[in-house]
Amino acid sequence: MASAPELRLSSAYVSGAWHPFNGARQMELINPDTEARTGTLTSPDAELVSAVVGAATDAQPAWSQSSTRQRLQLLRAIIALTEQHADDLAQLISEEIGAPIDFARAAQVGTAIKHLRATETALATASTDIALDGDPMHRVRYEPVGVAGLITPWNWPLNQVVLKVGAALAAGCPMVLKPSEYATRTAIAFTEIIHAAGIPKGVFNLLIGDKETGAQLAAHPGIDMISFTGSSTAGRKVSQAAADRFARTALELGGKSPNLLFEDCDVETSVRQGLAHCFRNAGQSCNAASRMLVARPIYDEVVALAAKIAQATPVGRPFDSGPHQGPLINRAQFDRVRAMIKACDARCVAGGAEPPVGFSPGFYVRPTVFADVSPNDPLFQEEVFGPVLTITPFEDEDHAVALANNTRFGLAAYIQTADPARADRVAARLRAGMLQVNGTSRAEGAPFGGVKASGHGREGGLWGIQSFQEVKSISGAAQRG
Ligand code: NAD
Repeated sequence: MASAPELRLSSAYVSGAWHPFNGARQMELINPDTEARTGTLTSPDAELVSAVVGAATDAQPAWSQSSTRQRLQLLRAIIALTEQHADDLAQLISEEIGAPIDFARAAQVGTAIKHLRATETALATASTDIALDGDPMHRVRYEPVGVAGLITPWNWPLNQVVLKVGAALAAGCPMVLKPSEYATRTAIAFTEIIHAAGIPKGVFNLLIGDKETGAQLAAHPGIDMISFTGSSTAGRKVSQAAADRFARTALELGGKSPNLLFEDCDVETSVRQGLAHCFRNAGQSCNAASRMLVARPIYDEVVALAAKIAQATPVGRPFDSGPHQGPLINRAQFDRVRAMIKACDARCVAGGAEPPVGFSPGFYVRPTVFADVSPNDPLFQEEVFGPVLTITPFEDEDHAVALANNTRFGLAAYIQTADPARADRVAARLRAGMLQVNGTSRAEGAPFGGVKASGHGREGGLWGIQSFQEVKSISGAAQRG
């Protein structure tokens, strides 16, 4: 069989055309399933970063004044083309990050399309010019914030990109996207879709590159707002770079989300769903339910069931059909996750640091569960970004809330109880941006984001669009038309 041609990723999409470039920094691209080298990614120099920001700046006067109708038309064309190319996109995501193909189709691409639709609905229904107390001489206008820099991670590579691109388009902001160096091909494919949808020149620009490219974009004086999704460590640096010029930031960062199982919950369903939510995408989701907190009376039952389910969770190849768990993204994550598993001295009831049999080479880690994990354990406090669940007992509601809030993160939290009053009471006390009770899925267009070290700002639906808008108050002039 002929081997696939080696990839050379070294083009930026600027002002409606692809521009090949040379650069001093090169990164090897590695297949997470086989560890085989598939090509190289080149990062641009600072001069090119400036030229790309300049293209977005040139597009700003016209795009900021574009009509809702024009933005809607564009968004609808992008949605239609994304749906048309859903299978190709899923294939690419599967190859690039190792996501099992069925999961890539249904969840990775499926969720991205839902987000685009939620943005479309919000744009079609939102009002950007509001009379205060019904008085047309006192108004509030929502206006685009300016040129947006968008920086995204690899774990939900299409999803993260469309949440930002759709919202920035809808808000009237021209933009420069810097996708993850580990998921560049997915971003390139989506750029082709945006191009085919007829985007005006300069409104969307793609800057491929490494973390230094991200840092150059975040620090660029031509960028009015940085919307960043990624680790809390990088988010802090982005914030600091933006602070120098008072540029706005929206930060979607890491998480260590608690899942509270009260004694009156449906144990079987809660444990099954809890593990699925933790191991989904091989544990590489910011909102993974990675800390299970369990009421003492059901603790032993939950631990035994969690061990049984984790041991039976299948691991498999990205291209194989089925509901299995795939590999981690890269060698650094593989080594880091296994080191964290090795260093934990709590009771390991499933999995462990040894790779699953038959999956080496490849960045595969076994679904792993630790019981009796203390709040002082790094595994309780730090985001692992791998298929690792911790279980900790609690004595009463106050103790559960205290344990749940006892990390620096505050992205999501999950509550399992048959008592609606308790669900509401506990939801109000948890410091997190998103609460889900008894396995209820989040509604389309619901705000996505966190508090504390999980960042600030919200994506999705109306909140996503508003994160790219400034509020202007106008007194003494009635609305035109
Ligand atoms: P990462 O922070 O290493 O990289 C994310 C992006 O930022 C990449 O494009 C990278 O090149 C760029 N980058 C890295 N350092 C930078 C810097 N100093 N300045 C500017 N850009 C920089 O994260 P990752 O490994 O790609 O993704 C995993 C992380 O993302 C996890 O912590 C996860 O929780 C988080 N995440 C959060 C959300 C959310 O919505 N809260 C969603 C998905 C992922």
